[in-house]
Amino acid sequence: MFDIKKIKSDYPILENDYIYLDSAASSLTPEQVVLKVSEFYREYRANVERGVHRYSQRASEEYEKAHEDIAHFINAPGPANVAMVRNTTEAINVVANTLSWKKGDKIVTTIIEHHSNYITWLRVAQRHGVEVQVVRSNDEGIIDLAEFEKAIDDKTRLVAVTHVSNVLGCIQPIKEITSIAHEHGSLILSDGAQGVPHIATDVHDTKVDFLAFSGHKMLGPTGSGGLYISDEQLYETEPLNIGGGTISDVSLNTYTLAVPPQRFEAGTPAIAQVIGLGEACRYLKRIGMDAVERQDELLAKKLVIGLGEINGVEIFGPKVPDRRVGLVSFNIVDMNPHDVALALDLEYDIAVRSGHHCALPLMKEVFNLPDGNVRASTYLYNTADEIEKLLGAVEDLAN
Ligand code: PMP
Repeated sequence: MFDIKKIKSDYPILENDYIYLDSAASSLTPEQVVLKVSEFYREYRANVERGVHRYSQRASEEYEKAHEDIAHFINAPGPANVAMVRNTTEAINVVANTLSWKKGDKIVTTIIEHHSNYITWLRVAQRHGVEVQVVRSNDEGIIDLAEFEKAIDDKTRLVAVTHVSNVLGCIQPIKEITSIAHEHGSLILSDGAQGVPHIATDVHDTKVDFLAFSGHKMLGPTGSGGLYISDEQLYETEPLNIGGGTISDVSLNTYTLAVPPQRFEAGTPAIAQVIGLGEACRYLKRIGMDAVERQDELLAKKLVIGLGEINGVEIFGPKVPDRRVGLVSFNIVDMNPHDVALALDLEYDIAVRSGHHCALPLMKEVFNLPDGNVRASTYLYNTADEIEKLLGAVEDLAN
């Protein structure tokens, strides 16, 4: 059973009744994860895969177990398919900087992407003479599948698309987009920064080639993230960095790379962070991603309907709550979004994010919002009561 009271008690940071509605920027971390990270520092603080002594052995076991649980969380075939990196941005950059681009290749991305999944491709275009085609949305930020069908052709080498928009909260049909990409022989990278924390992720089902995600948005420590690579691409993908930890043999003039995932994890990894992310995945699994999704739906509905009913408030993205996670961006007429966010913090003890949310193409081209907007984003520790308080506060500010 989803026991919100018990869940809340896992987050001592919430004891002061501050309402945290900024999980899309970074989630909170439950005590279980904090303790797991401190267990590493207190009990077996050592490097991994490098020592025969007991601390190094224990650290290696915990690191490998975390790797397995993280892979299991997204239903990857095994830990070999997930390279641990620092965040979504780094995962996307690994792909951008290691695919062997040819002049004439095409990359298809969309207008609603986060800069991490946008400027990365603009740079590939500048460096390699690759064309980037940007699929546009309607004025709610929704992209019709037919637009992908039009854009993806036999020249397309990669489709790079977000699963869940960090501005609109809308969920994209990744499985269908993947099937269009594959029909044309293109690879697909899904930006899972907002999707993996909120929606049960199954790479076996979606069949994406690459999935990038951030641990810090799914209850894990900052500095933890992953790049899933499909079996087909595992040995095709070049590591971005090589060096210590990435080889099986080195001679005077040559070297042989280790098997994945080691070949992708050069140098001493973020051991504590990965161990912490493993614990976060076990925690989410125990609660159940179906329960997380249900709580999300409940809060998304309350947010979309509630904000939509307040005079002087404009919400962005789909006006119907279906196919959204608990993330809604809005503006109060005649108020700067940063002033709204500051007032919510100072006067109402509510944390939200304001600004362009690292999605300037969407803000400028679709919404004409140079100052951006306000974003309220929820996670499993938020309650309907907290959304009521936000709605009351926004109503006060708007009137
Ligand atoms: N993509 C999306 C959709 C995001 O929301 C974010 C974080 N706001 C990123 C990429 C980048 O994530 P990170 O900062 O963890 O690399």
